[in-house]
Formats: sequence, C-alpha cells, structure tokens
Amino acid sequence: MANQDSATSVDVIIAGGGPVGAMLCLALRNQSVSFLHVCGEARGGERPIALSYGSSQLIQQFGSLTDATPIKSIHVSQAGGFGRTLLRAEDYGLPALGYVTTYSSVLATLTGSGGRESARVTRWQAHGERIDVHIDGESGTRSVSAKLLVIADGGEALAKEKTHDYGQAAVVAEIETARGHGNIAWERFTPSGPIALLPYRDRYALVWSTLSETAEFLQRANEGEFLSRLQTAFGGRAGSFRRAGPRASFPLALRYRDITPGPRVVLAGNAAQTLHPVAGQGLNLGLRDAYELAELIGTVPLAEIGGAAFLRRYQRQRRLDRSAGIRVTDALVRVFSNTNPLLSIARGTGLVLLDMVPPARHFLARRMIYGARAIP
Ligand SMILES: Cc1cc2nc3c(=O)[nH]c(=O)nc-3n(C[C@H](O)[C@H](O)[C@H](O)COP(=O)(O)OP(=O)(O)OC[C@H]3O[C@@H](n4cnc5c(N)ncnc54)[C@H](O)[C@@H]3O)c2cc1C
Repeated sequence: MANQDSATSVDVIIAGGGPVGAMLCLALRNQSVSFLHVCGEARGGERPIALSYGSSQLIQQFGSLTDATPIKSIHVSQAGGFGRTLLRAEDYGLPALGYVTTYSSVLATLTGSGGRESARVTRWQAHGERIDVHIDGESGTRSVSAKLLVIADGGEALAKEKTHDYGQAAVVAEIETARGHGNIAWERFTPSGPIALLPYRDRYALVWSTLSETAEFLQRANEGEFLSRLQTAFGGRAGSFRRAGPRASFPLALRYRDITPGPRVVLAGNAAQTLHPVAGQGLNLGLRDAYELAELIGTVPLAEIGGAAFLRRYQRQRRLDRSAGIRVTDALVRVFSNTNPLLSIARGTGLVLLDMVPPARHFLARRMIYGARAIP
C-alpha cells in the first residue's frame, strides 16, 4: 500500500531517510500495510560503501545498482607481521564477493519510490494498541498514530547509546595508483587501525582507520605528504600511490542497544548497531534488519503488528546476525590494533590457517556475503 503522507493514522511509521529506512519502505510497498516515511534531512555523501554480494541481491530486488565495481578477491594481511588470507569469488561460484559503490549511489537506487517527508520524528507515546508519533516538519508539528514505529535514524538522535569509543577515525579518499586494481580489495591491519583499499571505477576507494589525532593530521596534510604516509603505512602490494582525491574523516565507535527499546518501537540499521568499518559490515547488517522486518510485517496478521509477540519475534530473528556482526567486528579491531608481539604471531598464524583450511575460510566468506542467517 502506498506511503500515506497526509494521514493521521497508518500501520507503520519509519523514521530515517538513509538506506535502511529507504530499503524498508521499498520492501513494504507491495504489502497490505499503510506506512509513513519520515526522512530527516537529506544526506549526500560520496564515501565508499562495500556491499556484500548478498546485499547487492537484496537491493536488486527493488532497483538496479549503478556505479558498482565488483570485488573479485579480498586480500587480508598485517603490517609488520607474517600471514595472509585470500578470498576469491570463484571459490564460491559467484561473479563477485561484493561491489564497491558510494553511499549516495545506494541511496539513489533505494529512493526511486518517491513519497519522502523531509521532517523529523521527535518523540512518541505508546498506549495499548497504538503509538502516537510526533513529527516536526516545515509546516509545524503533527501527531500520527501507528501500530509500529521503526527507528532507522542512524543512531544519532533517537536511539543513542555509545558503548565503546575506539579512539580512531576513518579517513576516506579516492586513490589513483600506478597499476590497475584487478578488482582486488586489500585489507591491511596496522597497529593504529586497518587500511582498506577497495576497487572503485579505475581507482581505489580508501578507508583508512587510524588514531583520531593522526586522522586529523592526514586530513590537513598536503597531497604529497598524505600519499607518502599512506605508502609507508600500507606498503607496496597495491603498487605506488599517485594521486588522492578530496578527503573526509568519520569518528569511529561501537554503539548498540536493545533492538526493541520499548512498546511498539523497533530499531533497524545504525540505530540498532553502529560498527567499526573494518569488515565493511554496517550497512550490510542494516539492510538485512530492514529485509527481515519487512518480511515479518508481511507475515503476521495486521492486528499483531507492533504487539509484544511481534517485537519478540523480530528480536529473536535478528539476534544471531547482529551479535555475530558486533562481536566479530569488535574483536578484529581489538586483536589487530596493537603492537603486542605475541598477538602478532597469533594473528599471523590465524591468517595462515584460514588460508590453508578451506572449510574455515568458506565459513567466514559465507558469513561476510550472506550474514549469519544466510539472507537472502
Ligand atoms: C567511513 C565509513 C565507511 C563505511 N563503509 C561501509 C562499508 O563498506 N560497508 C557497509 O556495509 N557499511 C559501511 N559503513 C556503515 C554504513 O555507512 C552505515 O551502516 C549505514 O549508512 C547505516 O544506514 P542507516 O540508514 O541505518 O543510517 P544513516 O545512513 O545514518 O541514515 C539515517 C537517516 O535518518 C535521518 N534521521 C536522523 N534523525 C531523524 C529523525 N529524528 N527523524 C527522521 N529521520 C531522521 C537522517 O537524516 C538520515 O537520513 C561505513 C561507515 C563509515 C563511517
């Protein structure tokens, strides 16, 4: 059923105009529920996003993903230590392990449906079978009643709960190299944070996680200084770095909270969990939140949407995928971001074993591609 822009009562209200909120709206479009999409301010953003193959399949059910460069293999290594692992799409019979695109391209693909309300949800009050949601827009404040409020606000305002500040920031930029990327993604762990070089168009998209004060310096440094620091930190595996595009920096923290924080309210995407970008899992996990939530909404009788049993089912269905994403991402950052020589040996041994033991490697790859619940 269509988006109900001027209604005073709908089945579902979605707060958040990012990719997760947009994906949920698309998935609800063909179901027998009425919904209102409250988007917040429109956001641009040319920052890179690596979508898993599984996520690209979810998105392509609703629109075609343009400007996406395939990742054929992923090379994982650590600076100053031995060991490496190589994951290859051909080992899984897939055309790609994933695709590199940008935040704005993903959003453009998912917002083709129109019907956006550029307003903000400010507060809500649940009572019995309904929840009253207050919305601030250009024409003032109004109240809309629903069975369920989905908060997908990116975790900024409505569902904030900082759990661990990594003391790191991610510097992103496009990087031109002397030789082609061959569709290889590089993940190189350094003591101050992981460096990801993702194949994008005819260059790399860089996501360089490092100490916050270093990130500040790197953002201000001139191009030559920046490239030389990058070359030293990353090494020569991807060739020599020739040019860097405009840089931006994002503070990194782990935040997560109860996915059903109150009666008739659920969280999805970064509102539920904001991860370090080390394994490029944040949006992938968020899209799976949206997909499973839409399926659940479409499965239960209309009267049960948003009720206690509904909230419990959503929580149960998302538990494994979420906790795996949160725990694995956090462990990767903590285990790799240090200079302990014993840990360096353990890490190197782990990388070698992963490379030599195909079942372990395949288990990891499948989780990265489809999530812990094998979606879709
Ligand atoms: C440097 C970096 C690199 C990353 N790389 C990857 C990657 O390679 N792969 C990956 O999967 N993930 C990656 N991520 C994570 C990914 O960007 C996020 O997981 C994703 O953007 C979350 O989408 P979202 O829709 O939940 O939230 P957001 O994208 O934050 O969108 C939230 C939306 O809600 C709106 N809003 C806010 N408040 C309100 C309100 N009160 N009412 C209504 N609307 C509101 C905002 O205006 C915004 O439009 C990366 C993140 C960073 C920082």
